[in-house]
Amino acid sequence: MADQEIAVGVDQLVELIINARRVVVFTGAGVSTESGIPDFRSPGGIWSRFDPDDFTLQKFMSSKESRRKQWRLMREGHVTEAKPNAAHLAVAEMHRLGKLDCVITQNIDGLHQKAGVPDDNVFELHGSNKWIKCMACGERYPYAQVKARLLEGEEIPECKACGGILKPEVVFFGESLPEDALEQASRHARHCDLFIVIGSSLVVYPAAQMPVYAVASGARLAIINLTPTLMDGQAEVVINGKAGEVMAEVITKLKAKLGG
Ligand code: NAD
Repeated sequence: MADQEIAVGVDQLVELIINARRVVVFTGAGVSTESGIPDFRSPGGIWSRFDPDDFTLQKFMSSKESRRKQWRLMREGHVTEAKPNAAHLAVAEMHRLGKLDCVITQNIDGLHQKAGVPDDNVFELHGSNKWIKCMACGERYPYAQVKARLLEGEEIPECKACGGILKPEVVFFGESLPEDALEQASRHARHCDLFIVIGSSLVVYPAAQMPVYAVASGARLAIINLTPTLMDGQAEVVINGKAGEVMAEVITKLKAKLGG
């Protein structure tokens, strides 16, 4: 998309935000790539290095090799050491300006909260890697504790209490979504009047149902994503640009308008 088209889209989005009463921001892996966390599907993304099969609960539980790969990915620290980028900071600024109802995210990286959106305003549909849970006895460990064990050389950490399989509290394929987050996110999606998608291919269900709920309930839809999505045709504004760059522009213009 040419810079001129992006600038027009930004202006349109700022107007939509100013005129909206309840704005929901919905984010996917694309909002965090500028923080150095690869997404799944882009070139160089996680799917180009890992077999999607390794992200199924069944494979994780049944294959030591699959668990070894997962913990190696955790040890690399892409997710846990990442810092919020301009897009996360802009969304947090929307909160401070009273222009954000909530964030619904598919991400497990906690970067919206690190940027300053309160925990209560973030619904994590796919869990979070802040906690690691024993699949046998239910004991929970903070990620930092398990990371220390990884750095000491453990390849596949097991539960200290019972020796059971440890798994990050993130939703693997084949697992159901956390009921409470899903229920609350669906409610907020149905009650907003502006739904902004940032960095999601909108192909992972049931998360991708959220913009469908919003549009069906009469909300306006805006999409910021590098590549086209299946819902572009239903959006009032589509901006094919980088989330951080676009959102930095949006927030600068929004503050200028609100201040003036
Ligand atoms: P996806 O990988 O399917 O799609 C990401 C989209 O973001 C792509 O369409 C891509 O074009 C776009 N994109 C990439 N960089 C961008 C940028 N800088 N600005 C704007 N757009 C950009 O991701 P998804 O739809 O979120 O679904 C995949 C699943 O992967 C999710 O369930 C999520 O839980 C998980 N995931 C999470 C993280 C994370 O926590 N950061 C990272 C990888 C995958």
